[in-house]
Amino acid sequence: MYKECPQKYKFRYVHMLPEQPKYYFAFGSALHEVMEYIYNPTNPSFPTLEQALSFFKTHWDSTSFDQKGYASMEKEAQGFAEGQRIIAAYYGKHANSFVHPLSVEMKSTLDMDGLSLISILDRIDYLGDGRVRILDYKTGKTVQREPDQLMMYQKVAENSPAVLHLVQQTDPSVKEIKVEKLSFYHLPTLQELSFDRGSDKEMYAFWQKVLGVADEIRAGKFDPQPEENKCRWCDYRNICPVFTGKEYSGPSGWSAKTAPSAASGALLAAASASAVPPAKTEDELLSDKIDRLGALLREEKQLRQEIAHTMDKKGYKRHFGARFKAEIKEEKKRTFADKQKTLDTLRALGLLSKTLVPTQSTISALLDDSSVSPQAKEQLRALAEETAQTDLQITEAE
Ligand code: SF4
Repeated sequence: MYKECPQKYKFRYVHMLPEQPKYYFAFGSALHEVMEYIYNPTNPSFPTLEQALSFFKTHWDSTSFDQKGYASMEKEAQGFAEGQRIIAAYYGKHANSFVHPLSVEMKSTLDMDGLSLISILDRIDYLGDGRVRILDYKTGKTVQREPDQLMMYQKVAENSPAVLHLVQQTDPSVKEIKVEKLSFYHLPTLQELSFDRGSDKEMYAFWQKVLGVADEIRAGKFDPQPEENKCRWCDYRNICPVFTGKEYSGPSGWSAKTAPSAASGALLAAASASAVPPAKTEDELLSDKIDRLGALLREEKQLRQEIAHTMDKKGYKRHFGARFKAEIKEEKKRTFADKQKTLDTLRALGLLSKTLVPTQSTISALLDDSSVSPQAKEQLRALAEETAQTDLQITEAE
């Protein structure tokens, strides 16, 4: 966004003024959720088409019409039908060859050269010998190569301790990760486009560009870069200095985040009100965020304790609010504390490849897998410690 227009970036990430909902984000997010659901490596089996369609509907219905940003109810219905079509076509093409990837929707946070890189890698496949393929799902009309995006994935995957750790769970001898292949998968046309990894020279130039942008942001350089096509679709047009002739001095930070929309008349009125305090510095915004998150986490902990205590006193397993429901789930948690012994046992039983990634949950799933022999289960059970656990789950009430 900074490269598109520094002033727009300032509105969005310094003043924290929300953009209006975009239907293509809602559509893309719903299909990404479905892909995550299909390929979740912790699920021993793959969902059926009916289950995937049902999951899609639940996710679609969990956001309101306004949140999705469609221009009309008809357009929203067309979006939903298109999502169903894509999922059915995807199953038609791939259901017989589903394979669990190394990870799906992996969120990686990496501190590097003074930057905090937060990335979500849609899908990582392990190709052996420390080599991985990164796959990114696309849901727009077309796919372009977008080298910066691919290079960022490569940079993150090859430097992220979390990705290395994940690969080492499958292949403990691996010391470093190499991205062999970068792919975009265009869901509407079921086409995959693969690209070679960026060369050292390309990666160096890319990284210098990233550091340069970071320096400019830190230096507070937010000059507008108006262009007809960009400004026509920009949500901040009504408050942009290019069009108002004066600097924006309206709500900023958390107070702006809760404003209905940057382009709304209310915000525009607020923008011109002289009583509004000046925009906060980046450090002040950071302090605001830390305090707000800390207070929310403390309140969440307190509320969980109170709800669980009252439900326990009343003997309730489930209780409804006006919009959400609370459920107490009791489950047995198995822990395989001796990792080496567990891995050796899995190897000896020929079950290591069955877990794909041997985590506590995938090993535990073997004990519920009907294709695993009773003798093998007994050996695994002997390595597990079982503890009863209660979990308070809060979900939207249907
Ligand atoms: S209206 Fe144009 S110049 Fe102003 S922030 Fe948006 S894109 Fe930038």
